Amino acid sequence: MKIDAKGYMDYVAKVAQKLADNRDYVTELDSVTGDGDHWVNMDLGFRKLLEQRSTLEALSLGELFKKIGMLVMSTVGGSSGVLYGSAYIKASQAIGQRESLDVPLLAEVLGAMLDAIMARGGAKPGFKTMIDPLYQGLEAMKAALAVGKGDRAALDALRAGSIAGMEATKAMEAVKGRATYRTDKGVGHLDPGAVTMCYQLQVLADCFSS
Ligand code: ADP
Ligand code: MG
Repeated sequence: MKIDAKGYMDYVAKVAQKLADNRDYVTELDSVTGDGDHWVNMDLGFRKLLEQRSTLEALSLGELFKKIGMLVMSTVGGSSGVLYGSAYIKASQAIGQRESLDVPLLAEVLGAMLDAIMARGGAKPGFKTMIDPLYQGLEAMKAALAVGKGDRAALDALRAGSIAGMEATKAMEAVKGRATYRTDKGVGHLDPGAVTMCYQLQVLADCFSS
């Protein structure tokens, strides 16, 4: 179960498709608690990466993550652009010279992304953001690895934890982001950024399993 730069760009293509399939749903969610542009921002970023697919997949894995971070930072507007941009740049440092992602390195990479997003945006788990599915998915994955469960069980834990974290945002009061501008703080509505983060983690787990 390993993913190299080329495999990672296959993942990027699958996420772009997943986003395309869910345009109206994500846009509607961000229209309720935000300003409605979250899907457009994410779609723009993933399409930009696909435009450069042949150049990107020739890079080493660490360089690929760094370049993705820079491209996302410069093309994607809104909070997502800077948060995902920082996440990829920090993850590239965690990867270093390693040429492929295995499940333990994936846990390190997701940990680096989580740290970068929290540092850049000043938010924590429970604030009703993209952090929630990432945090809960990663915690579940790390718990599985810590008790010696295999790759498949760790990926299943990542899937289940990220869905739980995404779903939990519905009941949360927003502490960061545009949903804080609402008097109800978004309670009763899923956070759009949590939904798209969850999509990415599901697709990632699927790419490892296939
Ligand atoms: P904007 O909020 O600038 O319009 P987007 O619509 O692209 O940007 O992204 C909104 C999503 O970004 C939210 O649903 C939330 O998940 C996430 N988000 C916003 N602010 C933060 C933050 N400070 N920390 C982590 N995630 C955040
Ligand atoms: Mg928005």
